Amino acid sequence: MPSRRLSRIEQTADERRRAAVRTIQRLLRADGPDALVISHMPHVRYLTGFTGSNGWLLLRPGSALFMTDPRYREQASQEVRGMRTQVIFGRTFSTALQEMRLHEKIGTLGFEADHLSATIAANLKKLLRPLRVLPLSGLVEELRSVKLEDELHAIRKAIAISEAVYEDVVPLLRPGVTEIDIAAELTYRQRRLGADGDAFPPIVLFGKRSSLVHGQPTRAKLTRRSPVLIDFGCRVNGYGSDLTRTLHFGPAPRAFRSAYETVLAAQQAGCDAVQAGVPAAEIDALVRSHIAEAGLGDYFEHGLGHGIGLEMHETPLLSWRNTAPLEAGEVITIEPGVYLPGAFGIRIEDDLLVTLDGSITLSSLPRALRELA
Ligand code: ZN
Ligand code: ZN
Repeated sequence: MPSRRLSRIEQTADERRRAAVRTIQRLLRADGPDALVISHMPHVRYLTGFTGSNGWLLLRPGSALFMTDPRYREQASQEVRGMRTQVIFGRTFSTALQEMRLHEKIGTLGFEADHLSATIAANLKKLLRPLRVLPLSGLVEELRSVKLEDELHAIRKAIAISEAVYEDVVPLLRPGVTEIDIAAELTYRQRRLGADGDAFPPIVLFGKRSSLVHGQPTRAKLTRRSPVLIDFGCRVNGYGSDLTRTLHFGPAPRAFRSAYETVLAAQQAGCDAVQAGVPAAEIDALVRSHIAEAGLGDYFEHGLGHGIGLEMHETPLLSWRNTAPLEAGEVITIEPGVYLPGAFGIRIEDDLLVTLDGSITLSSLPRALRELA
C-alpha cells in the first residue's frame, strides 16, 4: 500500500473506528451473538471509513471483515484501513457468507433489525440454516451518539460553511425570487465552500407556506411583507449541520412578532437547560410549557430536536418519548417552532454540544427577529 501521511484528524478518526469496533467485539464476547452483520451504510462508514453506497461489515469477537462489490474495489482499498476487505462479485453478501460456511463456524448471527429489509433478513436466515439469526436494535446508534474529536471537527466545519452561505444568501431575498432559487443557492454555495453536499434538501418557504413544517420549496415568489423560513445544512466528511432561521421580508405584523418572541424565548430556555444527565423529555417539556403559556401550545407539534452526525435524525431524539438522559459529547439540535395554518410558521434551530456542565452552542447565526427592508 502506498505510504500516506495521515493528518492528526485522520489519525483520530482511525483510532475512533478501531475503538468502536473493539467495543462491539467486546459486547459480542460478553453476551451477544457469535457474530454481527452491520449493513446500515452510515454505520458501516462509522466503523470502517468506507464512503461508498454498498458494503457489509461482519464482526466477530476476534475479527472484522468488510465486504463490498467490485465497483468499490479501489475505493475500499484506499478508505478501509486495519481490517480485511473482500470484494464480492456476482452474488449477494448473504450468499458470500454461506460460501464462507459461516453457519458451520458459529451458532448465532445478529443483524440490524431496524435497517435490513425483511426480504434480505429472511434470505440470510434461509441460506445460513441452522444458524440462528437474531434481530438487534440500537447497538451502533448508541455508540455513535457521543462524538469524538474528528467528528466534532467535521460538524463545526459544516456549521461554519452553512452560516457563511446563509449570510450570503439572505441579500438575495428580493421580490420575485422563488423558494427554489434560494434553495438552489444554498446547495450550490455550500458545495462551493467545501461541503460534500446538502445534509438534506433545503427547506425554503415563503409567506403562508412557512406553516408547512417540512414543506418542499416551490416556484412560489417572494412578495413584500412575508415570512421566510429557511431550514438547511451541509455535510463535511459525512457529518452534518442543521440550522433554521425564520425572518420577515418587510416589517413583521404584531402577531408574527409576538409568536417569534415566544419561540425565541422558548428556544433559549431549551438551550439553557441542556446538560449531560438531564433527560431529553424534561427539556422538551420545559420548552413546550413556555410555548403553551403563550397560548400557542397547539401549534408546536413536533419533537424539540435530534442528534446530528452521519445521519440527520440520530440518537438522541429530544422528545416527550425519550426519557434517557443526555450524554456529554452528544451533538443535538434545539428547534422549537409554531405553525399557524394559513398564516405563518416560525422555527429557530441551533446545534449544541452537550457537556458535563451545560452545553456549547456550535452555531452562531443571530437569533433576534430580522426584518429585511
Ligand atoms: Zn433543520
Ligand atoms: Zn433539525
